[in-house]
Amino acid sequence: MRHWIERIADELKEWKVDKHVVASGTSISGSIHIGNSCDVFIANAVSKALVNKAISSKIIWIADDHDPLRKVPYPLPKSYEKYLGVPYSQIPCPEGCCDSFVEHFQKPFLDTLVDFGIELETYSGAEMYKNGLYDDYIRLSLEKAPKIREIFNRYRRNPLKEDWLPYNPICNDCGRVNTTYAYEHDGDKIYYTCQCGFKGDMDIKS
Ligand SMILES: [Zn+2]
Ligand SMILES: [Zn+2]
Repeated sequence: MRHWIERIADELKEWKVDKHVVASGTSISGSIHIGNSCDVFIANAVSKALVNKAISSKIIWIADDHDPLRKVPYPLPKSYEKYLGVPYSQIPCPEGCCDSFVEHFQKPFLDTLVDFGIELETYSGAEMYKNGLYDDYIRLSLEKAPKIREIFNRYRRNPLKEDWLPYNPICNDCGRVNTTYAYEHDGDKIYYTCQCGFKGDMDIKS
């Protein structure tokens, strides 16, 4: 029996594309244990299986660095609690040796992948947001907000409110991303309230 990676590669072989792009990603929530990198290894295995079949393929890796800090990772000090809810990309390096929290933790991880013979193109989720790569998708999801809300509500105990929008602005006052509630938009401008008491707006292009 063939390995399931081979079966996936055989299915992908039928796709009419010039080059396959196998995407993987990791949340940069502190030191990245190699055991949490299953995603990258699977992407690598699929991509290599394609290449072995003479099909062009590459792997990309996205640092999910727009995600908020949910708990202070060991061994960082309690003082980092002030960054709870703040996107990883906005948090400083814990030892002052790099430009950011993300750089500090992703570098050793990426260096380790080289030892495993994994070559990938790296991207930053936060940068992709900033560069507008997601803008059209955000606009589409704002347009389809009622439909998205309806689908979510089928599976939620507490239904989302009528004015809910599928967007989490970064609070202009406290810097957190998981405490904001977007309730209205005017084109690309999103109006929100934050649990810190702030009310503001954010342009999806910013
Ligand atoms: Zn550092
Ligand atoms: Zn706030």
